[in-house]
Amino acid sequence: MSKWFIFPALHEEERGVINQELKRVERSLDLAQQSLLAQARDWAHWDDTYQFVQNNYPRYADVNFSPDMMREMRYQLIAFFDANGEIYFLSGLDPDTNQFAICAGVTDDCAWMAALIDSIQRSIDNTPEQQYFLSPGVSAPAMVSITPILRTDGSGPSAGWLAKVRLMDKQWVAQMENVTGLPITIEQRPTSDPIPFTNIEGETIHAHHLLPTNVPTISILVGTQLNRTHYLASLSTIRYVLIWTVCLMLFVIGFVLWLMERMILKPLKALAIFAKQTMSEDSNLDSALLCQRNDEIGLLARSFDQQLSRQRELNAELLNLSTHDSLTGLPNRRLFDQRLQASIHEMEASSQPLAVMMLDIDHFKLFNDHYGHQKGDQCLQQVAQALQKVATTHDFLIARTGGEEFSALLPNTSAQQAKHIGQLLHDTIDALAFPHLASPVAPYFTISVGIGSLDEGTDISPNVLMSTADQALYSAKAAGRHQVKIFTPPNADFSVVSHDTSL
Ligand code: GH3
Ligand code: MG
Ligand code: MG
Repeated sequence: MSKWFIFPALHEEERGVINQELKRVERSLDLAQQSLLAQARDWAHWDDTYQFVQNNYPRYADVNFSPDMMREMRYQLIAFFDANGEIYFLSGLDPDTNQFAICAGVTDDCAWMAALIDSIQRSIDNTPEQQYFLSPGVSAPAMVSITPILRTDGSGPSAGWLAKVRLMDKQWVAQMENVTGLPITIEQRPTSDPIPFTNIEGETIHAHHLLPTNVPTISILVGTQLNRTHYLASLSTIRYVLIWTVCLMLFVIGFVLWLMERMILKPLKALAIFAKQTMSEDSNLDSALLCQRNDEIGLLARSFDQQLSRQRELNAELLNLSTHDSLTGLPNRRLFDQRLQASIHEMEASSQPLAVMMLDIDHFKLFNDHYGHQKGDQCLQQVAQALQKVATTHDFLIARTGGEEFSALLPNTSAQQAKHIGQLLHDTIDALAFPHLASPVAPYFTISVGIGSLDEGTDISPNVLMSTADQALYSAKAAGRHQVKIFTPPNADFSVVSHDTSL
């Protein structure tokens, strides 16, 4: 990220700063030129100068020119031309010897000026007043201001031309550096050189600009430079900050992941295992720990545990409802059939006898008609309770398999033992002495009992076995009710248990 976003942005900012500094240098150059031009105009628009170039002021040169003035004003050359552009008067300091000379032509002490004067003469009419000149006889580029000579009030016609020349040598550059506070480079370069506007060399960044001269093929390179230590320090600071930020981020991410693992994922895994184990009803020690937690996971575990307990209760309730009779609470036909099927299988495997019984209340319809259905229900409950008591005592199953009809399943019970139990049940209902004045059999509640049995090793289906008990019950009913009968195979008489109907 730093490579693609931050470092390019810093580079851009660095370039912006150096360009600003270069503009400062250029403005200083402009200012120096403006100043030289102003000084040239000051002289050129002066009646004394006007008269001088018209040869009317012989003392002008003596009064105004001296080596001290030239050095103090940093003038390298002051040249006067007449209206035809011909040399009228020259004053200069030789750049090599620093020798002062005044001449009327480029001869003797003024010979060094020849090339420069020639260039100035050629550009008098067709170039701007201020320009940069390069001359073979002068090592440094020159700043030149050329202006027409007019009267002090600015009126013409022009009596000639005045040119002031200032060399941009080392001393001048040092002065400019003092003014701007920036390092300045002034060099001559071929105009065609492909010089980058800014370039970096080690810990320094440079910015350059080319200025045109009187020689089209050669330009003046103006440049400045900045130390990059500030920028490099920024870079290393950013790198340092980035590394620390990344380390901190990695640490925070790691810490958050660790927290997530510890606070969420691990408890969730435990919750999932807990859920799995509780579903399969396995005991689990971790579940207690999980339920004790004070966070959301603990809340979830407790809620899940409660839901599961509630579901188990509901399942048990549902199972109970689906296998028991709601009025009497006794097992219903569904449960009886299941147990019967299982008992027959057990009997086949263990070679034990098995007996079944069907018990039916005598004339119950008449009871309902006489006492009402609600009373009939109460009676059914009391009969069921009495029958269940005997079943519990003798460890067999009694179920309500019809409206006023009950069935008993007696594993490991022979026909004789079943007859005894049947009689016991029969007598138990008699003993209730529940009034049934509408019954033609007795003035109290009575039942009829039919018994079917299987000897060991007999192969028989549950339906066939129950039908034998049903047939025995039918025969008890047919024989006048209020009695116990054992099924006997066809062509044999039913064994009837006699009973006393009188109370
Ligand atoms: P039998 O001696 O031949 O068995 O005569 P019964 O009247 O007992 O037999 P029947 O099959 O003619 O009538 C059974 C009656 O049992 C009819 C019905 O009104 C009554 N009954 C069945 N279930 C209930 C019940 O849940 N509550 C009440 N109060 N009566 C019931
Ligand atoms: Mg009946
Ligand atoms: Mg019946």
